[in-house]
Amino acid sequence: MTIQSIADKVTSGARLDRDEALHLYRHAPTALLGRLADTVRERKHPDRIVSYIIDRNVNYTNVCVARCNFCAFYRPIGSPEGYVLGFDELFRKIDETIAVGGVQLLLQGGHNPDLPLSWYEDLFRAIKDRYPSFKLHALSPPEVIHLSRLSQLPVPQVLERLIAAGLDSVPGGGAEILVDRVRTLLHCVGKATADEWLDVMRHAHRAGLRTTATMMYGTVETDEERLEHLLRLRALQDETGGFTAFITWSYQPDHTELAGTEATGIDYLRTLALARIVLDNFDNLQASWVTQGGKVGQLSLAFGANDMGSVMIEENVVRAAGASYCMDEVEIVRNIEDAGFSAKRRNMHYELLGDPIFRERDVPRMLELATARESGDVSVPEELLKYPARSRAGKHLRIIPN
Ligand code: SF4
Repeated sequence: MTIQSIADKVTSGARLDRDEALHLYRHAPTALLGRLADTVRERKHPDRIVSYIIDRNVNYTNVCVARCNFCAFYRPIGSPEGYVLGFDELFRKIDETIAVGGVQLLLQGGHNPDLPLSWYEDLFRAIKDRYPSFKLHALSPPEVIHLSRLSQLPVPQVLERLIAAGLDSVPGGGAEILVDRVRTLLHCVGKATADEWLDVMRHAHRAGLRTTATMMYGTVETDEERLEHLLRLRALQDETGGFTAFITWSYQPDHTELAGTEATGIDYLRTLALARIVLDNFDNLQASWVTQGGKVGQLSLAFGANDMGSVMIEENVVRAAGASYCMDEVEIVRNIEDAGFSAKRRNMHYELLGDPIFRERDVPRMLELATARESGDVSVPEELLKYPARSRAGKHLRIIPN
């Protein structure tokens, strides 16, 4: 096995096995990895279109009992900084999203024991009543598992109820690395084992939903474990074909219990290229400009990415861990076009919607990403009082609203 023979295999469109992929990842020069990933990208997307979506990344609560040690976003039950967004706050966020051409919410949050399944169902129904064509890309697999445990209903039934209420698609968050040794060290094996994460996606695909897949690398995993993650996703995609896209980003260490250092931009580009080569059954790979910044995000387009992700509008999780990049639609399009591609808006199924919206009408520039709430706003939404709380702190809040 030589680098050249493996490279020839990639160029010919053949699938790499575990040993070949690992050898290539460890020993190929970065420029060659990029060229090979770009060859695969070109084969799948010969039109030189790079897509992006206008949506808003909203975190409905930061209260979480999972307590993953790589997370700077969550607050424990009873924390004075804990929040749950109200339905009206979410409606306002949707209005703002639609005003800049947005088509969906990416809605994720902590595992809050004081939000029962009925809260999610009522929220989804209320959103769909007001905004019938607006899409909900919501609740990553660990959140679905959390709701399954909370409601004591099996995962397929929880998904069925959420779909009936308006769930359109499941985001691939909470995957980290799909190897239980790593998940144990990251204190996230309790929220979902690798098999449990994959199983939620399997059920979602069987129920007719398309979903994304993610990988957060750069914590405690080995090269073999990064590759194992990709191979497990590839196997599920062979089985169901339900993944629309893959997104990888590096662990952001600031303000986390795990601490440590952030992986380099070169590591990001090599990992992205490896993903494009190994995930031969995934059509779309996103660039993670929110963790890497605009320039590495732009370089990603030469390392296998064919999508610039989301305009985002709002971001809370990565910002809590120290990264605060912002790109509005104008900036995303500039980065795509300067790299020699043409930029098109898309929906959650990667269907193209058209040219940049700011070329069709006036859209205000967005030079900073919004946050879930103004700092210090700990107000309790009125409708929360209707839902039974499980925790002592949650019960207290229900009795004494401010
Ligand atoms: S990563 Fe998600 S599940 Fe883990 S502590 Fe943070 S909010 Fe909770």
